[in-house]
Amino acid sequence: MTVASDAAAAFRAQFGTEPAGLWAAPGRVNLIGEHTDYNDGFVLPFALPQCTVAAVGPAPAGEWTVCSTATDGDPVSFGPTEPGEVTGWAGYPAGIVWALRDAGFDVPGARIALASEVPVGSGLSSSAALESSVLTALVDLGGLDLPVDRRPALAQRAENVYVGAPTGILDQSASIRCQAGRALFLDCRSLEVEQIPFDLAAEGLAILVVNSNAPHQHVDGEYGARRKSCEEAARILGVPALRDVPLEGLADALAKLDDDVMRRRVRHIVTEDQRVLDTVALLRAGRTREIGPLLTASHVSMRDDFEITVAQVDVAVEAALEAGAYGARMTGGGFGGCVLALIDADRAAGTTAAVEAAYAGRSFTPPTSWIATAGPGATKL
Ligand code: ADP
Ligand code: MG
Repeated sequence: MTVASDAAAAFRAQFGTEPAGLWAAPGRVNLIGEHTDYNDGFVLPFALPQCTVAAVGPAPAGEWTVCSTATDGDPVSFGPTEPGEVTGWAGYPAGIVWALRDAGFDVPGARIALASEVPVGSGLSSSAALESSVLTALVDLGGLDLPVDRRPALAQRAENVYVGAPTGILDQSASIRCQAGRALFLDCRSLEVEQIPFDLAAEGLAILVVNSNAPHQHVDGEYGARRKSCEEAARILGVPALRDVPLEGLADALAKLDDDVMRRRVRHIVTEDQRVLDTVALLRAGRTREIGPLLTASHVSMRDDFEITVAQVDVAVEAALEAGAYGARMTGGGFGGCVLALIDADRAAGTTAAVEAAYAGRSFTPPTSWIATAGPGATKL
């Protein structure tokens, strides 16, 4: 794994000694279930083979130093801090240290060098990969008693409270709890998981991921606005979260809301939760090709009702479908980012070419495409 040797080399160059160990955590693709996590609903991600690797060694108690091959700047050192004190990218590892300490753990001092092959800011969750690699390393090094199923919420606190990004629990759960060859069916209320077999190659199928390379715009503000709208709707409807509006009750719920925008936001969440459940049922039954229309319906819902897509991702979805994909949708929080398409494995080159041609015709920045297989979750290498 080159990224592992890159992290080890960065550690040696920075700290002049060998790391005590290497810890890897993956980025993720969300197969379906977008913006449902903070509505207490359902998601179905799988881990990418692309990882962030933390090369980590000991430091005196209460001292942490972090550096990353992804940044040109100097290493960042900090002691015990409160949320927001360390800013910029180092706020993510500082947030992990804070969240662990805040939960009562005696976090060992550490030197940390990071290297990553997860595209940054493309909706594949480089932030959770970073958090999860550092968290797993500190838990192992310190011998901390933090079971795997409690780790995602702690990493999420680092991102929500320390960094100040109001994201749900999808990304950290995927990076920490996914397994190779499986998709992770997660109930974001109970945090119960089911590992769903997801070996597409055995069926002659593949997931093509297309990075739209569209510039991210207004991501944090728009994400926060969607979240607020969902929480406000749940309040008006008198339910703890939109997860509690069943599909059969959708028409009644919509009739109780005056605002057309809010109605469309609610319709996306309620129908999207059902699409996750339907996708899981089809996968359990081995009817993988049939999830295609659900993926495409999810995209249409994100485009028209939740309004989180941009022209580049809409064009990629259209082009993939025209090239014969069973289904295609944007994956990730939106406003740029990546598209996934379920295709016959032997049509990867043709689908890629079709998307590239559609982009060239519109003078978009060229996309980057690859086949994504389901890799393992965070682990010591
Ligand atoms: P995404 O998680 O979709 O990639 P985010 O905006 O949530 O996008 O997170 C991206 C941010 O995470 C970067 O701007 C940077 O601050 C931080 N980050 C991610 N990976 C690394 C890395 N390898 N080194 C330094 N910072 C990183
Ligand atoms: Mg992120």
